[in-house]
Amino acid sequence: MTLQIKLFNTLTRKEEALKLIDPNHLKMYVCGPTVYDRPHLGNARSVVVYDLFFRLFSQVFPQVTYVRNITDVDDKINAAAKEQKISIQELTAKITDFFYADIGALNVLRPTHEPRATTHIAEMIVMIEQLIKNKNAYVSEGHVLFDVESYKNYGELSNRHLDEMIAGSRVEIATYKRNPLDFVLWKPADTEDDASSVFKSPWGKGRPGWHIECSAMSSKYLGADFDIHGGGADLQFPHHENEIAQSRCANPNSHYAHFWIHNGFLTVDGEKMSKSLKNFITVRDLLDKGVSGVVIRYLLLSTHYRKPFDFNQKALDDAQKSLEKFYSVIEIGASTKGKLSEKILADLADDLNISKVIATLHEMAKEIKATNDENLKNEFAATLDFLGLIDERFFKGQEVVSDVDLTEINEQIALRLKAKQDKNFQLADEIRQNILAKGILLEDVAKSETIWKRV
Ligand SMILES: [Zn+2]
Repeated sequence: MTLQIKLFNTLTRKEEALKLIDPNHLKMYVCGPTVYDRPHLGNARSVVVYDLFFRLFSQVFPQVTYVRNITDVDDKINAAAKEQKISIQELTAKITDFFYADIGALNVLRPTHEPRATTHIAEMIVMIEQLIKNKNAYVSEGHVLFDVESYKNYGELSNRHLDEMIAGSRVEIATYKRNPLDFVLWKPADTEDDASSVFKSPWGKGRPGWHIECSAMSSKYLGADFDIHGGGADLQFPHHENEIAQSRCANPNSHYAHFWIHNGFLTVDGEKMSKSLKNFITVRDLLDKGVSGVVIRYLLLSTHYRKPFDFNQKALDDAQKSLEKFYSVIEIGASTKGKLSEKILADLADDLNISKVIATLHEMAKEIKATNDENLKNEFAATLDFLGLIDERFFKGQEVVSDVDLTEINEQIALRLKAKQDKNFQLADEIRQNILAKGILLEDVAKSETIWKRV
């Protein structure tokens, strides 16, 4: 499909026409979850925003490779495992399953690759060795640190200057750092660390810093230069700044990601979401209250992705009403194979102009109500499905699927996909049989996409 996509590029601070390195193949990397806690609404917003980009790009370009990592080695993970008195592996496996179950309910597609940090330690070590060789990193007291002064463009993405950052730095000066802003590439293990978070390296036993994970995994799956890097605005500094510094210094001829896109913050009733303010909401909290995953998805997408998003009860009620209105004009089981609304695709191509998309959806629903036009109905159903907004349970006044638990089905689908990924085909088959016994048939429509039907 020929459609010129425009994106706001954080790196240049302006909207630009998206031009790919290989015109037929878009390559995108997005920072994924650190698996120490169930996904909260802020995490979910980022996941659904990039899912929508992925869906759009897949319509426009012949090939799309989308990589979203899983950070399964981190200080927060060690702390949470200790607190819950379980092993790190047990915790990360459990939280990864929760992540898939929870975001699966939001109709999020699986990326092309989902590399885990702990299975890419060797790649990180190679990159760190290269940085030491290029004199961008140094070894000190069992740590390896990146020397920020060795990279002249440090601060480019977040529009900061190194001198100002150093002057205003509140970073505690560690004895092993030459400069307070130097960041960790490798840190030594503590004596009480769980063995599954300790890895051998040329600098002794320890674990990698967070930033090096993304640099090593993105280059492994996408190459040193790729098209788009995404993540939450809170990751711009220092995480993304550090990724750029590491990757460009390890591969001096590369630009690393050409486009940087960042999604905005999420607040709850106007306040920053935090556990201490007791306004911390997870996706599971809402699903357990009976809120449909597609309502959560619609709500999270309904504010432009770069703007701050405020979660509140009224916004949730409005999202529910909008979807009820949309569903009231199409039939349950409506074909979703029709053509997509060109207007909506064009609006999405304009840096995800979601308010126009929503306005068009309302106009289409209104027109269908007035004309009952079959073609328009098919286009509407196909477009809603493309946006990930179809949920059969939600159809009002029609035969609704009431005796099955959609949360359970989504959870089982996620567990089965995970089992297949782990090559545990016996478990995958058992899950399929067990749910079939309850009258639900799971059908694989793509490598990592499963739909369900009643039998
Ligand atoms: Zn990252």
